[in-house]
Amino acid sequence: MNGYGGNILRVNLTTGGITREATPPELARDYLGGRGFGIYFLLKEVPRGADPLGPENKLIVSPGPLSGMLAAGGGKCDWTCKAPLTGGYASASMGGHFTAELKYAGLDSIILEGVSSKPVYVFIDDKKSELRDAAEYWGQGAVDVEKELKDKFGEEFQIAVIGPAGEKAVSFAHINHDFGRQAGRGGVGAVMGSKNVKAIVVRGTRSVPVADLDAYRKAGMALYKACKEAEGLKEWTSYGTTIVVSWCDEAGALPTRNFSAGSFEDAKTLYGPYMREKIVVTDKGCFGCPCPCGKYSKVKKYNAYAEGPEYETIGLLGSNVGISDIEAVAYANLLCDNLGIDTISAGNVIGWAMECYEKGILTKQDTGGLDLKFGNIDATFKLIEMIAKKEGLGALLADGVKKASQKIGKGSEKFAIQVKGMEQSGYATHNATSMLLAYMTCDVGAHHNRAWAITYDIQVGREKVVPEKVARVIWLQNFRPMFDVLGACRLQWVELGIDRELYIPLLESITGIKRSWEDLEKVGERIWNLTRLYWVRENADFGRAWDMPPARFYTEAPTSGTTKGQITKFEDVNRLLDMYYEQRGWDSNGLPIPETMEKLGIKQEMVA
Ligand code: SF4
Repeated sequence: MNGYGGNILRVNLTTGGITREATPPELARDYLGGRGFGIYFLLKEVPRGADPLGPENKLIVSPGPLSGMLAAGGGKCDWTCKAPLTGGYASASMGGHFTAELKYAGLDSIILEGVSSKPVYVFIDDKKSELRDAAEYWGQGAVDVEKELKDKFGEEFQIAVIGPAGEKAVSFAHINHDFGRQAGRGGVGAVMGSKNVKAIVVRGTRSVPVADLDAYRKAGMALYKACKEAEGLKEWTSYGTTIVVSWCDEAGALPTRNFSAGSFEDAKTLYGPYMREKIVVTDKGCFGCPCPCGKYSKVKKYNAYAEGPEYETIGLLGSNVGISDIEAVAYANLLCDNLGIDTISAGNVIGWAMECYEKGILTKQDTGGLDLKFGNIDATFKLIEMIAKKEGLGALLADGVKKASQKIGKGSEKFAIQVKGMEQSGYATHNATSMLLAYMTCDVGAHHNRAWAITYDIQVGREKVVPEKVARVIWLQNFRPMFDVLGACRLQWVELGIDRELYIPLLESITGIKRSWEDLEKVGERIWNLTRLYWVRENADFGRAWDMPPARFYTEAPTSGTTKGQITKFEDVNRLLDMYYEQRGWDSNGLPIPETMEKLGIKQEMVA
């Protein structure tokens, strides 16, 4: 099948059986790949009500038709499962080189199912696939184990590996790869750990069939040429996502002290150019990327090397916890990577705990003696370790900020910055209604990458609540996640302004099927609705209340920074949702109506 590896690898960890099934052509036609395959298998194979950490949950990793191909940024794969963090849908995108090797090993998905009776890793070398004993790696750091496995098997093998946090089922444990790329959000690492799988090691040497080789070369090179000639290439490659730090600080969007403000008075030492000069030693990219945004840093103060930090980590483990020392942020990043926890959720829950401490809700007795004031670097390092090991206060925080605040109470739920149980990522949304709506309605919880709408707020007026803003969020949600379906990075389009039409002939030359962006957006809309229906299926009370934003954004205006005194009104939150549901074709409780399902070709039995 053109553009595909041609096989689904099913790994039954309970029996130890591994089988290869041919990828059904209609699956590729209707769902394309990546997170499309993920939601298909999740709905079809994981029974309603499955325990996210039990044997019935499955972990599905899928490249897409552009993965591993002559496609600028074709280095992404998707990890889907039922999320331990939220009890709903998890889909985490991972860059690096893993996805290309999956494709060259002839794979369009790996489905991990059941539970192994002992720690194992999955070893794949082309057609050979087997489970191997991982006892010697269990308990070790993700970065450390990746190095050991690279030394053992060689550079050609790509490795996805969990840290101790995944083994201990921390609800926001991630999967690490390429010494600093992650499938980060929702607790995908905890699901891998719950199955007693430490790592997946893969190498492939086969080529992928394409429909029209000449057209493929031409379309692939046209995309590279556009990236190389893009005006913003030099700046993007120099700073990557860290270039956004100063912009967010000035726009009042930089999460500061548990999102109580959007500007940080000491942010200048977190800005991209400062970081580049101070700690960056080289740039690092994913497979086939012409504009490497990854930064590799030497952290002298802590005698370490670390990938990053990138924007989200700077926002959450820097300003959000009151830290302005870029070396400390980079080291906190490395700790999280090696221990195996998502830096976004980690910085968010630690920010919440610091606010609890400063307000007297948590005391030194609760923190195990830590002086958990904002800006305390050593306490931040220690708490990261405690979360990963589920020790003391760390055990409470390991369940995520929603559950932690419900347990602690005393009003702390009001400043738990989460939606659907997922900690909000790096944009403060006190008065940025598009971005707020994007977080409220995101299909995994409060994550930014489905609809990065903050610039649109600035462009059209941040406080405005108008149908155009809602339409923009919906368009982004249908369109941007298609990159996760195709297995490619979206940043060439977002940051370099590459014409998205360049992807169309490329996709056609690979798969032999002509699809316009309009066609692809329809696939995106269908997947969006399927993921919504997954939440409905798994949560009896799912509805409007699940889409409400953190109370902070409609009850407390920042007292400093460029958004000082600004707030979104509660009635505007509801107006946003009313308009959103109407434009989506959902009822007033946020559930897709039968006509919408019919229009999108979704049958009741698919989501039963
Ligand atoms: Fe990877 Fe960054 Fe390149 Fe995207 S822009 S493919 S995330 S290195």
